[in-house]
Amino acid sequence: MAFQQLNLIEPILKALAKEGYTNPTPIQAQAIPLALNGNDVLGCAQTGTGKTAAFSIPIIQLLANQKQRKPGIKALILTPTRELAIQIDESIAAYSAFAQIKHTVIFGGVSQLHQTNALKRGVDILVATPGRLLDLINQKYIDLRQLEFFVLDEADRMLDMGFIHDVKKIIALLPQKRQTMFFSATMPPEIQKLADSLLKNPKLVEV
Ligand code: AMP
Repeated sequence: MAFQQLNLIEPILKALAKEGYTNPTPIQAQAIPLALNGNDVLGCAQTGTGKTAAFSIPIIQLLANQKQRKPGIKALILTPTRELAIQIDESIAAYSAFAQIKHTVIFGGVSQLHQTNALKRGVDILVATPGRLLDLINQKYIDLRQLEFFVLDEADRMLDMGFIHDVKKIIALLPQKRQTMFFSATMPPEIQKLADSLLKNPKLVEV
């Protein structure tokens, strides 16, 4: 199976070719068509499986295909660590290199000035860690009322790292009408419960 068989738009195929990717990984081959069709996705996958592209590429394509894109943050990707957040944002930069998509990344432990300046310039896709996101929401730099896509990445690590309370606070602020993708390497009962509360008729993808 090649990326050409996944009904991807030319700007994304061009970006993937530039990255040197020819074939989708198993999680990508399963998740990309489901997400492009508007399904919620429950993914059991670890880092290294290609899950970042599995959730990023459909979001980029669905946004790029919108004729009149509303202002405001349309996609939120929540991930537990700053390293993962930076990696995801870099991947989005690569996959959207030939599409008109504005994206940025926010995380704690650094001055917020650079991040708030980027937010003021307008963002379609926001990659964030939970603490800094809540901080900037409380300071009114971020409004999630226009959100259309939500990704919860590494849900089990969110729980292990003590972020689940922050994550639930953020989820409470999201519009009900949205497409959600939920990724976790393991599915302990608390994570399964969270997934059940977040996803509507999800399609399960496992690797
Ligand atoms: P991830 O699991 O998303 O952290 O991705 C793991 C690594 O695989 C990253 O370094 C990606 O750049 C790379 N990668 C993701 N998808 C593909 C693909 N289809 N072909 C080749 N490399 C890939």
